[in-house]
Order: sequence, then structure tokens, then C-alpha cells
Amino acid sequence: MLSLRNVSRIYRAAEVKTAALKDISLTISAGEFIAITGPSDCGKSTLLNILGMLDVPSTGEYQFFGERVHGRSEDDLALLRRQGVAYIFQNFNLLPGLTVAAFREDLAQLAPFVRDRVSELKSWDQMKLLTVRVDHLRRWYRAGLLCIGDAAHAMSPLGGVGINLAVQDAVAAANILTVPLREGRLALHDLAAVQRRRELPARLIQRMQIFFQNRVIRRALGVDQNPPLALPLRLLRAWPLLRRLPARLIGIGFRPEHIRVSTRLSRS
Ligand SMILES: Cc1cc2nc3c(=O)[nH]c(=O)nc-3n(C[C@H](O)[C@H](O)[C@H](O)COP(=O)(O)OP(=O)(O)OC[C@H]3O[C@@H](n4cnc5c(N)ncnc54)[C@H](O)[C@@H]3O)c2cc1C
Repeated sequence: MLSLRNVSRIYRAAEVKTAALKDISLTISAGEFIAITGPSDCGKSTLLNILGMLDVPSTGEYQFFGERVHGRSEDDLALLRRQGVAYIFQNFNLLPGLTVAAFREDLAQLAPFVRDRVSELKSWDQMKLLTVRVDHLRRWYRAGLLCIGDAAHAMSPLGGVGINLAVQDAVAAANILTVPLREGRLALHDLAAVQRRRELPARLIQRMQIFFQNRVIRRALGVDQNPPLALPLRLLRAWPLLRRLPARLIGIGFRPEHIRVSTRLSRS
């Protein structure tokens, strides 16, 4: 039998206290099946972690088949857990080597400017793995659908060029599609024209991102504490005029777009 009496769990990050559970009393008999439901952040995961002895209550008592859980050492808890608990996790990330409270403290130390809001993070459910991809569709369109921006060519954050490209795609699409749309004669070849215009600049910028990722960033983030400056950076340092090139490519791209106001459109 599992029995909780007046269990609370309070996380402390810096000076901020967050109560994830307050005064929970609960008894689960042998052979009983229960489901714990509730809105996001109501403390379900904290409760499960305490029941499964991955976490301990801040106050209150927990009895696990007659064994006192509260106040035990970590090693004792691990033994009890090994003998009596089986978990099925949604994914392996739910088995943290770190508690949420410790993560918040790490985060506040790494980025002191977010210290006053790390308490917003209350459970691992709120944390997501950010995946960065660089890829592209072979075909950006089909009848009734046109993909532009990241939907057609996902950009890495490198260089901060993705928004620029997405806006340029939108301008090109507006320039190419407005009149056929207004005249009700939009056809697949109009959508194809958008891809023809924008695919090359997008692919070239993506290649540039991959080049800098592999040649510059990866080296800088590598194990070597003081890696020699990568060749592209040495060249930029040696010839200041060369610096205009990446600046132009980042700021303007390979094929700048300007809104063309159709005279036919402005008269209508
Ligand atoms: C970590 C990271 C940092 C980045 N930093 C920069 C940067 O500093 N500068 C820069 O220029 N680029 C940056 N980029 C790249 C940039 O974010 C993208 O290239 C850019 O946002 C693409 O714009 P978009 O409008 O095509 O797509 P998005 O900005 O992804 O917009 C798509 C929108 O559609 C919405 N959506 C998705 N599905 C649906 C649906 N079914 N119904 C309704 N809405 C839906 C989404 O919620 C989203 O709001 C970064 C990328 C990453 C991953």
C-alpha cells in the first residue's frame, strides 16, 4: 500500500520558492489501478516522482508498503525503488540526471539575466529539445498549396538570415501571384515561377550556413580550448574589404526582392 500524508514539495531557486504540491494526502491500496489527471503544471509529474521515489517530499510522510520513505538517504531510496517500482516513461528524457530545481539553478548561473523568471519552469514537460535543421523541399507547390520560407527551406539560426529569406520569398510570391490571383487565372506554373525565382538564393545561403557551421562554429565549439582561427576568418581579418561580402550576403542575400506595384493592380 502507498500512503501519503500532508505531503508538500517546494522547489527553491535562488530566493524564489515554488510549491509544486501542497498538503497531499492519498492512499493507494494493493492491486488498485489509478490515473492521476489534471491540467498542465498542476504537479502530476512531481507527485509521480515522489510516489516512484525519484524525488522526496519537502514536508509530510510517505509510506511505501509499510516502509517509511521520507527522510531516507538517496542510496536507501535507490534500493527501495529497485525492489518495488517499475516505470514506463513517455520518453527517455523523463529520466533526468538532474532535478528541475537543480536545472533552474544551473540556468540562472549560466544566464543571470533570466534568474528572476527561472521559477516559471516547474516540470520537465515545459522543456523541449530544440532541433535545428537545414533542409529543403524538392517541390515547393502543388495545386492549392505553395510553401515558402522555412516550410520550403528550413534555415539554421546561423547568420540570422532565415527571416530575411522568408520575407524575400513572400515579396517574390506577392509580385508573381498577385495579378493572376486577382484575375482568377492562377495556375501551377505561377507557383512554379515562385520556386524558380527563390530556390537558388535559398540553397546558396543554406550552403553558406553549412560551410560556416562545419568550418568555423564546429571548430570553435570543439574540445580544443584554443583552436586556430579558421581560414575564412583569417582571410576576413587580413583583408577588411572582404568583410563586405558576408555582410552583404547576410543583409541582402543573393537575390534581393522589391515589391513591384502593378499599374494594372493600382488602377483596379
Ligand atoms: C533557434 C533558432 C534561432 C534563429 N534565429 C534567427 C535569427 O536570429 N534571425 C533570423 O533571421 N533567423 C533566425 N532563425 C531562422 C528563422 O527563425 C526562420 O528561418 C524564420 O522564422 C522562417 O520564417 P517562416 O515565416 O518561414 O516560418 P516560421 O517563423 O516558423 O513561421 C511559421 C508560423 O506558422 C505557424 N504554423 C505552423 N503550423 C501551422 C498550422 N498548421 N496552422 C497555423 N499556423 C501554423 C507557426 O506557429 C509559426 O508561427 C532561427 C532559427 C532557429 C531554429
